[in-house]
Amino acid sequence: MNDSALAVPYAIKAGLGEYSRLGLLITKEYGPRVRLGKIFTDLPLALDAPIRFGVKEFCEICRRCTDACPVKAISGNEPTTEVYNESNLRGVRKWSIDGERCFDYWVKQNSDCSICIRVCPYNKDFSHWWNRLGRWLAGTGLRRLMLWLDQRLGFGERWQPRRWWASSR
Ligand code: SF4
Ligand code: SF4
Repeated sequence: MNDSALAVPYAIKAGLGEYSRLGLLITKEYGPRVRLGKIFTDLPLALDAPIRFGVKEFCEICRRCTDACPVKAISGNEPTTEVYNESNLRGVRKWSIDGERCFDYWVKQNSDCSICIRVCPYNKDFSHWWNRLGRWLAGTGLRRLMLWLDQRLGFGERWQPRRWWASSR
């Protein structure tokens, strides 16, 4: 987890994905649905390089996570060095989230939330070609079209449990 070093910056350096407005790594394969871990080693390994597939530019026009967060913990503004509280990393210009407000919400409802992950347009099953097409569109000048389509087609909506179980049979 984040005990010995912050995982997201290492993951970006290792080319696993891009940073996003909701403060998580967004990967090409699984969108924001990843749990990162680290192994420190002095093995002589080949180094990977950071990758870009349009997440930064897409987050600049998208506010889906900002709008959906029930406690408004995700900024809708430009990246900044300003921080919310001592739980934020200082001295880096980036999108920061108010993690203390987020976790306070989790504690109050006795469970986690992850609404921001559900609504993110990168939260898709990329084994389907149509979702890979959407991911490609999001990385082009047609990203506004992609965002509009995503909303019109109902991606990110909350499902009733019965519908989810039926869809996964
Ligand atoms: S997990 Fe929930 S409360 Fe926390 S930032 Fe995401 S939407 Fe907001
Ligand atoms: S919901 Fe939109 S703004 Fe938020 S992380 Fe996903 S793509 Fe970026």
